This record gives sequence, structure tokens and C-alpha cells, in this order.
Amino acid sequence: MLQQTQVKTVIPYFKAFLLNFPTLKTLSLSSETRVLKLWEGLGYYRRARNLLATSKILINEHNSKLPKDLINIKKLPGIGDYTGNALLAFIHDQPTIAIDGNVKRVFSRILNKNENKINFAKLIDINKKDLFKTKRNSDFVEALMEFGALICKPKDPKCYNCSIKNMCKYFTSDKKFKQTNILKIKIKNYNIFCYIDKIKNKIALTKKHNLGFLDKFYLPSIKETYNNKKIKSWNFHSNFKNSISNKKLNINLYYKFSLKIPLQYRWFSLKKNNEFIPSFTKKIFKQILKIK
Ligand code: SF4
Repeated sequence: MLQQTQVKTVIPYFKAFLLNFPTLKTLSLSSETRVLKLWEGLGYYRRARNLLATSKILINEHNSKLPKDLINIKKLPGIGDYTGNALLAFIHDQPTIAIDGNVKRVFSRILNKNENKINFAKLIDINKKDLFKTKRNSDFVEALMEFGALICKPKDPKCYNCSIKNMCKYFTSDKKFKQTNILKIKIKNYNIFCYIDKIKNKIALTKKHNLGFLDKFYLPSIKETYNNKKIKSWNFHSNFKNSISNKKLNINLYYKFSLKIPLQYRWFSLKKNNEFIPSFTKKIFKQILKIK
């Protein structure tokens, strides 16, 4: 849950998740719909699906235990180097570091060197005696991440309160390296087309859309556009911006009152649904409900 998501956002979801699935076994026996429903609003839904799939694999193939080596951990759905190393450190206290953006920034500042010029795996290997002194490596790795998030922040690091400032070359040097990798998120333009049944307050949704990061979820028709030309064959409703996963979308919302819909569409109530509906689709519902 914490991948790409802030702690304060995650806390209520995490609590509800544990209440519903107190053990690995209860999670593994759940349906995908139920897991997604509890994840609703948290975004990055692939994480929920992967978690469910992983719980089944751990129960069936690993005697309910997490593997202790990176090769086997990485065979679990959705787990790459970063999460694999984080799990080895957090769960098994193994001497390894999950290298995320925060950790990279901390090391690059301590060395006063651009991240791109550092081989992090080599750096950690050379310094492993000093880095892995504690048996509580889980605490060390978490502290390193938190340090990057709270003290050695991307903008305005709190150097004067930093307990390692005297060994930090960024702080002590007059010539500070220039940070070049602050991620710039590109805004993409999309047109969304909604078929509406105004009398029954319904909207037609499909899983056959090309918004890859929300694949397998119900959405109206959505198409990326490379110009801002209005589409005349649909009624223009509004323009709004939306952040979804790590993307920023600039959306032109169109609608049409129609009782006929293409084959791959299904009607959904604009007010209440028992099925899982991603928050992005719900935001569109809100806009559509404003149509008089
Ligand atoms: S002194 Fe500043 S730049 Fe150096 S590690 Fe501490 S917070 Fe980061």
C-alpha cells in the first residue's frame, strides 16, 4: 500500500484491510472483487491484485512463508528489485537496502555527487561493513527512507537540524552538485465520452478502453488526444484536471443522451453500485450528475 502512497492516506485502508484479512490465509481465500473494494480510492490497483495472487502462491508453494532470497522473492507477482530488497530487510532483517528515490538522494548528497554518477549497488557493497552493523536492519532501512522523506527532503533539506551534517559533503562543500533528476510529470490530454441514460440516471461503461494503468476496470470511452480541438459530434460538458497513479491528466469530458450503446458497454447507476468502481470513474459520475 505504501508504494507511491503517503502514510497518512494508507493508515485507514491498512486498518480496514487487516480487520477483513487478519491472516495470509483469509486473504488468499478472498475474491478479487472484495480485495479491490477494500482498496477502492487508494489507486494503483495492480498492487491489490498482485497482493492477492502472492498470498495464494505463498500459501500453496512456500508453506505460508516469504522466501529468503531475492531470486525467489522476485518470482512473486509485481515484486522487483526495490520491493524485493525492502521485504528482505523488513521481514527477514537481511543486510540489504531498498534503493528508492529518497535513499538515492541521501547518498548522493552525502557524497555531493549526482545520482546518475553513482553505482548504488557497488557503493553499498563496498561499504557493507559500515552499513550493516546492526542486527535490526529493518529499522535501519526504514530510518534511511524516513530520513530522506523528512530531513534530507528533495527541496530545502533540513541541514541545520541534520545529525550527519558534519560528514555530509553537500553541507560542508562550497560547491554543491546540481540536482538534475527531479521528476517532471508530463500532463497528457484525454477526451472522455459518456453515454447517459438521463431518465434512469445511468452511464455506460466498458472495460475495453486504452487507459493501460486502469486496465480491467470499468470506464467510459477514453482517448488520448494531441490537440485541443472540440469534438462536434458529442456535447462538451467540462474540462478538469486529474492526477491518477503517477500521471497528470487534462480531461475534456463529453456526453450524449442515448439508450443505444456499443456491445462492449454495460449500464451502471450514477448513484449506487455494488461493484467496485475506481475513484477516477466516480469523479466522472460526479461531473455527469451535474447535467441538468
Ligand atoms: S546535511 Fe543536509 S544534505 Fe546533508 S544529509 Fe543532512 S539534510 Fe541531507
